[in-house]
Amino acid sequence: MARNTTARLQIAQVVPVTAAEGPGKRFAIWFQGCPLRCPGCCNPEMLPFSGGTSRSSEELLREVAGAIRAGIEGVTLLGGEPFAHAEAAAPFAKAVRELGLSVMIFSGFTLEELRANPSVAVGELLRQTDILVDGRYIRELPESGRRWIGSSNQRIHFLTDRHQADDARWNQPNTLEIRLNHGEVQINGFPAGQATGLWRRIPGGAPVGPESAQ
Ligand code: SF4
Repeated sequence: MARNTTARLQIAQVVPVTAAEGPGKRFAIWFQGCPLRCPGCCNPEMLPFSGGTSRSSEELLREVAGAIRAGIEGVTLLGGEPFAHAEAAAPFAKAVRELGLSVMIFSGFTLEELRANPSVAVGELLRQTDILVDGRYIRELPESGRRWIGSSNQRIHFLTDRHQADDARWNQPNTLEIRLNHGEVQINGFPAGQATGLWRRIPGGAPVGPESAQ
């Protein structure tokens, strides 16, 4: 697939440097829009394909390149459903890897479903993925042992040899990050079994509910 940095990505949120969304420091991108409806999804505002912000791939790549100075070792794509945005995400992921960074994706689809998908773009995005965490979030199966994982049915696939399962970082405690961004409290990470959420916006300081998602 030719590099296409003119593509636009529909983005719900970006964190330029986080240690709570995969191994090492990572640039995390939440896509806006998911066709699945897992009960208990913590990001219901990211399910509609309308909304979010249309960002140019080129602009995001510049931000990713800038974050390399902060020590990121990769980019994590989540959402929303990254593979529902594969047309734009695949060339973006390819360009990310050309910067020497790894690509990790949290998907509600299983690896088998993705491999069976006839979409060229889905296949290409899969080829540009170093780590895939796959499968629906199942509220009744909360994950208690594996870092960064929402429910115990979800699997971690190391699709390249860039990362390994025996990396000690996979066994460290989960972390929660809280930021104040333009007057809005934003939280990401997996703090505990009863509150393994991603993004929460807390207008006026409203409490965070215990929910989970990939
Ligand atoms: S948990 Fe993930 S795959 Fe499931 S509905 Fe939410 S965003 Fe979509």
